[in-house]
Amino acid sequence: MEFLRPETWQEALAHKAQRPETVPIAGGTDVMVEINFDRRRPAALLDLTRIPALTGWQRDENRIRIGANVTYARVIEELGAELPGLAMASRTVGSPQIRNRGTIAGNLDAASPAGDAHPILLATEASVEAESVRGTRLIPATEFYVGVKRNALAPDELIRAVHLPVLRGPQQFSKIGTRNAMVIAVCSFAIALDVAQRRVGTGIGSAAPTPRRVPDAEDFVSEALPWESRDPLPDSVATRFGELVSLAASPIDDVRGSAAYRRHALAVMARRNLAWAWKEYQCA
Ligand SMILES: Cc1cc2nc3c(=O)[nH]c(=O)nc-3n(C[C@H](O)[C@H](O)[C@H](O)COP(=O)(O)OP(=O)(O)OC[C@H]3O[C@@H](n4cnc5c(N)ncnc54)[C@H](O)[C@@H]3O)c2cc1C
Repeated sequence: MEFLRPETWQEALAHKAQRPETVPIAGGTDVMVEINFDRRRPAALLDLTRIPALTGWQRDENRIRIGANVTYARVIEELGAELPGLAMASRTVGSPQIRNRGTIAGNLDAASPAGDAHPILLATEASVEAESVRGTRLIPATEFYVGVKRNALAPDELIRAVHLPVLRGPQQFSKIGTRNAMVIAVCSFAIALDVAQRRVGTGIGSAAPTPRRVPDAEDFVSEALPWESRDPLPDSVATRFGELVSLAASPIDDVRGSAAYRRHALAVMARRNLAWAWKEYQCA
């Protein structure tokens, strides 16, 4: 197996253009597992860890651009205040070792329906900065997941960064697993309240072939919430929101859980996450 070690982003893009089948490696927490279990035997690995352009994050007035090599541990430590939902999701990933190596970009490219970063990226309307020698484009998270473990990147493209809007308002993420840590989600749910726009964003994970938003539930709850008065969350609103989220899932029965359980759990998580977020909004 060839091991390519570009020192610059341009060099990495040139490798990917010349040999699109080359497999990028960042933290290696997905790639190395696949190689160790012989599920994948790429002719060449493209190590991105030496590229300075991928290691930082930048903030402008209303968004944060997270470089592809920024780890979960750094998201938690450095961006927890401004991106609370992403930090919450990051805290649930694997173990300290995995969070010290694993990246959001790696999670995105792997595009597992159970990946923990996806629901909050959907709920906050994040986008993926994809680049090739042909140029750069921003792919909205809603268009990025195109099938089970498939994404919208072209064969010659790499992920350069992830862009998240900095929203004013509470965010939540919940994940159900068979234990508290080192667990793949049975299903997961994220919510983001955009107080300025009076809008609620959602994302569900591990309950459909791809992570997905729930536009019906978003429209319903954005309209129904008592934004002005900050009155307590009406039970009827929370219940209907949970139902709409659950109805939008198309889960399967598998070793981690049944489809029926996933639907039920999603309704519960949606209600609870909405209630927690609303409480925070009331107290702010
Ligand atoms: C023990 C263990 C526990 C785990 N627990 C969780 C968990 O709780 N939740 C969860 O969601 N995941 C979990 N994972 C999976 C994994 O840690 C995550 O998916 C992580 O985000 C992968 O990031 P990485 O940088 O290690 O990616 P890598 O393994 O380096 O790469 C993953 C994929 O992304 C591609 N890639 C990497 N960088 C780029 C780039 N810049 N552009 C284009 N493609 C790129 C690779 O080619 C590969 O296809 C776990 C893994 C292990 C081994």
